[in-house]
Amino acid sequence: MQKEQSLQRANRAKEQGALASDILADTTRKYALFLDVDGTLLDIAATPDAVVVPEGLAELLGRLSEGLAGALAVITGRRLQIIDALLAPEKLVGAGIHGAELRTTHGGAITPVAAPIPQALLAEMTELVQGWPGVLLEFKGPGLAIHYRQAPALKADIEATLRSHLEPYANVLVILPGKKLFEVVPAGYSKGRVLSTLAELPSFRNRVPIVIGDDVGDEPAFAAAQQMGGYALKVAGEHFGRSNVDLDGPAGVLSWLEGLAKRLKV
Ligand SMILES: [Mg+2]
Repeated sequence: MQKEQSLQRANRAKEQGALASDILADTTRKYALFLDVDGTLLDIAATPDAVVVPEGLAELLGRLSEGLAGALAVITGRRLQIIDALLAPEKLVGAGIHGAELRTTHGGAITPVAAPIPQALLAEMTELVQGWPGVLLEFKGPGLAIHYRQAPALKADIEATLRSHLEPYANVLVILPGKKLFEVVPAGYSKGRVLSTLAELPSFRNRVPIVIGDDVGDEPAFAAAQQMGGYALKVAGEHFGRSNVDLDGPAGVLSWLEGLAKRLKV
């Protein structure tokens, strides 16, 4: 709560968009970039598979990674192999499933950090979802997601059912609510924790962290970056609305990233 309030104060202190512009204008500092994907780099779509990747995005991220000497990471709730497919041929440094899997070098292998979701739970969830028309189950190895964008009226029902089925896994698995979805992830993982882990990598060390995100799951990473003297850039969307944000949706993020690439001369 306290963190949330100081975050709000920090954001109120600036004119909308001013922080994002100030960061670009300051050519004396070396930055490390941590990017959420859905709702930040990509517009949210009706289903996770239906996202459209803007032309040139993967290439721009590759150039930025080079310009930042490797200090660019994606931090996402999705599996990294899905992000790789979306951003082919780039295999960016990053964390999938809120940190339950990691890639620590550009082009390197993906390392699972947490154990897969128990088979018994997965079987239960598969059966439950069949009884909810329009609801999608996404299996993510160490995590899973239940998407109800097509059936928003079922939200309360899904949440209550999920909570009761997760009771046997208390302290092992937790529920993270997101945009029209509930994620089940291993306890102890968050984008905040993963930011601290990635920030220790040689290419990220001694750089000012900038986190760009659009959802409640990005807030622990915002707080972690600010604690390290870095910045949180909020992206307008379903979670933050259109006031008190730093960047106006994925299109705004893209043009800011292009500005950064220009600044870095890449
Ligand atoms: Mg997002």
